[in-house]
Amino acid sequence: MTAIPELWFDPSRCLIAGEWVKAAAGTLPLYDPSTGAEIGAIARGGATEIDAAVTAATEAFHGVWHRTPAVERGRILTRLGQLVLERVEALAMIEARDVGKPYKQARADAVALARYMEFYGGAADKLLGQTIPYMDGYTVYTLREPHGVTGHIVPWNYPMQIIGRSVGAALAAGNACVLKPAEDACLTALAFADLAKQAGLPDGVLNVVPGLGAEAGAALTAHPGLHHISFTGSVATGAAVQIAAGANVIPVTLELGGKSPQVVFDDADLDAALPFLVNAGIQNAGQTCSASSRILVQRARYDEVVEKMAARYGALRVGPAVDDLDVGPLISAKQKGLVSGFIEQGHDLQLAGQATLGDLPSGGYYVPPTLFAGVSPDHTLAQNEVFGPVQVVIPFEDEAEAIAIANGTDYGLVASVWTDSGARQMRLAKAIRAGQVFLNNYGAGGGVELPFGGIGKSGHGREKGFEALYGFTTLKTVAAFHG
Ligand code: NDP
Repeated sequence: MTAIPELWFDPSRCLIAGEWVKAAAGTLPLYDPSTGAEIGAIARGGATEIDAAVTAATEAFHGVWHRTPAVERGRILTRLGQLVLERVEALAMIEARDVGKPYKQARADAVALARYMEFYGGAADKLLGQTIPYMDGYTVYTLREPHGVTGHIVPWNYPMQIIGRSVGAALAAGNACVLKPAEDACLTALAFADLAKQAGLPDGVLNVVPGLGAEAGAALTAHPGLHHISFTGSVATGAAVQIAAGANVIPVTLELGGKSPQVVFDDADLDAALPFLVNAGIQNAGQTCSASSRILVQRARYDEVVEKMAARYGALRVGPAVDDLDVGPLISAKQKGLVSGFIEQGHDLQLAGQATLGDLPSGGYYVPPTLFAGVSPDHTLAQNEVFGPVQVVIPFEDEAEAIAIANGTDYGLVASVWTDSGARQMRLAKAIRAGQVFLNNYGAGGGVELPFGGIGKSGHGREKGFEALYGFTTLKTVAAFHG
């Protein structure tokens, strides 16, 4: 077994009430997606550990965190951001080995995690209420108060970024957290929690329980001690989380992925657009909630776009995460099976471009990045989230058809529009159903300041920016009668 040398903590334990504890059910094996080799073990947390974690969070919330001044909460998060920056290389290497993400992409995630701590550290004491003009004799104001104990179920595709935007905002707002990372990607969650301890976060304010979704995840979701739950993952599991939260009548934030389009009009600057068209589909091997898996192109430029994208696909280099090429492996054998199944469903389509898989470790979870063209908007590959490096190109005639196709899925997370016409940019920005619309770019660098979330089956609630902070608070109205 080739363990990960960068680890400075025991990955086979949970962090509960500031103590590293073993799970009653033992451990689960940990695999390197780049090779398929077993590289360690993680805790198999379950109902017992979740219950202990919720109890610890409840005590920490009432005991210390609720009374910690906002400015001090902010200082702790800012210190934590600094510690993350000091460990960026180690965190990136841990993530690369654990989830198969090419090193530079993993490093960018670690830097983003630090940035979330800086942003929410600075924002903690700026959660302002309002005064409301009311009847004579009254003074009315609002207070933004933390929910209490918040649950965070984080997937395996961007563990550090999703922890940053979810746990970072919750802590800044004054909540105590229980974090259930994905069984395939819990190492950086544990590393982050250890750094939080070092930064001075009081024991019990952040608890981490790795384990299986059906065990630790389901136990957390159903726990009556939670006051809010934040989930990122699949539509099916998100729906189950919402039902469980409904039974306890607590608010839920769901971020469930998408089928995000980039719409290219015939007046677009193609040289500027091309890198975004492809990168937004293959980044993190396409395992990105905001991946752009549909490229809509106006007929006059259609052949040109397909040809240029195909050339880029042909040049993509696929390999182990530590080799830091364009595309790494998928997270798991299960995900490889799912994505390979989707690629097979494209047998009736034009295979426009495909990367060549060279001499790769035989046990790794690799699939060839694949571009299909001439795809009809109702094809299964144009409707369903693949969550792998697969894109489809769909032609359209005019603006009305572009809008109809862009809005023609169950999802609504992200979209972009490439056109020189300012008036068209404004019309499309209004007409497209999505939580974020980008004009002549895609993703805007992923800024932590930019509210993010979906509509339709992409979920509800907003993460990132100040909107996330509001989501992790409840609003109290105080009306004082003084005559
Ligand atoms: P899931 O939705 O099942 O997993 C996401 C998270 O939920 C993980 O932490 C998982 O834990 C946890 N979980 C699983 N089952 C439960 C449960 N019953 N109660 C509470 N938590 C649970 O996604 P998968 O990993 O199975 O991936 C399948 C598909 O989901 C992908 O192909 C993709 O389409 C979509 N997905 C979307 C993501 C996004 O960013 N929007 C992220 C990940 C997946 P564990 O992994 O330990 O089982």
